Parts: sequence; structure tokens; C-alpha cells
Amino acid sequence: MAVPRCATMTNVTSTWTEPSNTATALLLLGRGTDPASERGVDCPGDLPAPSDPDLVARATAAKAALGDRVFVLGHHYQRDEVIQFADVTGDSFKLAQQAAARPDAEFIVFCGVHFMAESADILTKPEQQVILPDLAAGCSMADMAVLGQVETAWERFVDLGIAGDVVPVTYMNSSADIKGFVGRNQGVVCTSSNAKRALTWSFEQGSKVFFLPDQHLGRNTAVLEMGFDLEDCVLYDPHKPGGGLTDDELRDAKMILWRGHCSVHGRFTIDSVREVRERVPGVNVLVHPECRHDVVRAADQVGSTEYIIKALDAAPAGSAWAVGTELNLVRRMALAHPDKQIMFLDRTVCYCSTMNRIDLPHLVWTLEELVAGRVPNVITVDEQTAANARVALDQMLALP
Ligand code: SF4
Repeated sequence: MAVPRCATMTNVTSTWTEPSNTATALLLLGRGTDPASERGVDCPGDLPAPSDPDLVARATAAKAALGDRVFVLGHHYQRDEVIQFADVTGDSFKLAQQAAARPDAEFIVFCGVHFMAESADILTKPEQQVILPDLAAGCSMADMAVLGQVETAWERFVDLGIAGDVVPVTYMNSSADIKGFVGRNQGVVCTSSNAKRALTWSFEQGSKVFFLPDQHLGRNTAVLEMGFDLEDCVLYDPHKPGGGLTDDELRDAKMILWRGHCSVHGRFTIDSVREVRERVPGVNVLVHPECRHDVVRAADQVGSTEYIIKALDAAPAGSAWAVGTELNLVRRMALAHPDKQIMFLDRTVCYCSTMNRIDLPHLVWTLEELVAGRVPNVITVDEQTAANARVALDQMLALP
């Protein structure tokens, strides 16, 4: 499993201050094999060197040569060097919708991570090809829920006689296999924006929810938005026999949370919140619901990536914001709003290391391959899995 790459942050002022150099050279990620990453694969191509001064010109020329045949999607957490070539930016769900809304584009180049490209493949036409510029760009959270583990847990529910009461709900940040499992079992996909609506619908279908793979989003939504107690939630650990839960714990639980989390948002702590409140009087703490429960409780506002962007856009000049989400986005927002004091919630800088594997050399290589008539790194979800996953995605779109 990949871990975030971190460095110590320098002083934060009213305008953005770059952190000091990272111990790990992020620009070099994605070249060669990284056995510690989710997929750990080597890029099959001959990547240009990161130091090539013509990378921007090469990407511009290749994209222009492809014209409307290519549509480039850029997730909010991508690096600036990649985002500048995105036709649209957004969170994972918005990007999947955008891909589906471009039926004429032959190639969807997805500058995000693997599960996002899978969702785009599920929602686009069969003749369209979805391309991930670096196959090693996975998501550590998505990899925390593997289909075999989830089926083992479900078999336990069946043996206990509770499976009929359980509605599976999976966060968008999960593999196509898990979305397919949820679709097969009459469940629903959710995003960080509609998790409450998904849970409300699920509790109308059954008396328990099996929430995958992000324990924090599940717990935060159930307790802070739906009025459940922490005691109503139990944590299923796939690495322990029986998930580490007794039969009675499973029978009594309302929320069975999968033991998964985001390596980036999971790093923010209650100490980060205390420290920034002492350092910046009057600061507004704004965090993503993938953060830990105590962090979300201590924050002033919580919301999805799109919510965070809108809140910062709408904030009055002179206001101060400590933001608990991925650094590339926070930095971009700070630079876009020099009249507001926008800072990273923690003193320790933290990128999504897998998202950062997609860099300009990979994008240039991908676009130039397409110009040359070769289609690299196509992400394909098999038909049966895609059909099942579409059931769970359609259920999400049909949520009241
Ligand atoms: S930020 Fe977290 S959830 Fe998003 S891709 Fe990275 S590891 Fe996965």
C-alpha cells in the first residue's frame, strides 16, 4: 500500500508559502517500478525526462493534433503541470459524468486514479477508450477493500442470518469489483456529497448498512448527519478472523464500517486543529469528511471537495481558512484567492502520492502515443462487472 509523501511545512502567511523541499523527489515518481505502490507497475513506454524543457510545448502540440478526438479530465488533486491541460476539472463523480457527456471523444485521458478511470469506462460508450497515463496511479483507500475479502464478510452475514437486513453502500472511491458487488446485492454507490441521502435510502431498505471502504465517511455521516451513536457503528477488519467482531456485535450494529481510510485525509489530527486555532485566531477550519471523526467534530465546516471549493470562493476577503484536504488543491485555492488567508490544516505537507504519479512526462507520452496511432494504458471493466456496477451507480442517481 502506498503512503503519502510528506515534508515539513514552512511558515504560513496571508499569501501562500511553498513548503520546503520534500525528502522524496515527487517529479520522479512514476518512472520505474515502485513495489510499494498499489499496482507497482512499470510504465511500458519511453517517457520523456522530467527536465525536458519542451514538455509543455509537446503536450500542447499533441493535444492540438488530436483535437476533439481526445478529452482530458483532471481531478482537483492533480498537479498544476497536468491541470493546465485538462478540458474539465472536478471530483471523481463529476469527472465520470463529464466523460459520459462527451460521447464523441474517441479517447478519454483520465488524469486521476485507477478507480476513477474504471467509473468513466463504465459510464462511457463501448467504442470510447479510457486511458490512465500511469497505470500505477491507484488509490490506497480503494485497495483496502478487495472483492474476496468483502465476499468473505458477506458470507459471515449470511451465516449469521443478517444478510437480508444489510444494505451494502460503497463510496465512489472503490474498485469496479466492489461497485459490482454492491449492485449485485441491491445496494448503492455514494459520494461525499450525497452520503446522507444514500444512507437515508438504505435504512428504508434494511435495518443495517455495510459501508465500504471508508470508515470515516461512513461514521461521520451516520453520527454527525443522521443522529446515530458511535456505539451503533462497528468496525469490520478484514485482516482479523471474522472481521474482529463477535456475532452479537454484528447483530446489534446499525453501521458495519469497513476498515479502510484515505492515506491523505487520515493524516489530519485533532492536534492539527488545536495548533492552527492557537496560531491563527479566528481561523475557520474546513475539512473533508474522509478525515477522522474527532477532526471533523472539531472543525467548523465539513464538506466534499466541490463544497470546499465553493466555500473558499464565497468566503469574504480577509477571512482565514485552514483546509484539511489534498495539498495541490489547497495551494491552488490559496493562489487563486490572495485576498483570503488560505492555509493547509497541518504543518506537515501531504500529497496523494498515487495521484501525483501522473505527471507531465506521462501526459506527454500518452498524448504523443495517441497521435502516433497507439493507444496506451486502456482501462477496461469487464461487461458483467460493469453491468452490476451500473445498477449501484444508477441507484445513486435515482436517490430522492
Ligand atoms: S486522496 Fe485518498 S481517496 Fe483520493 S485518491 Fe488519494 S488515497 Fe485515494
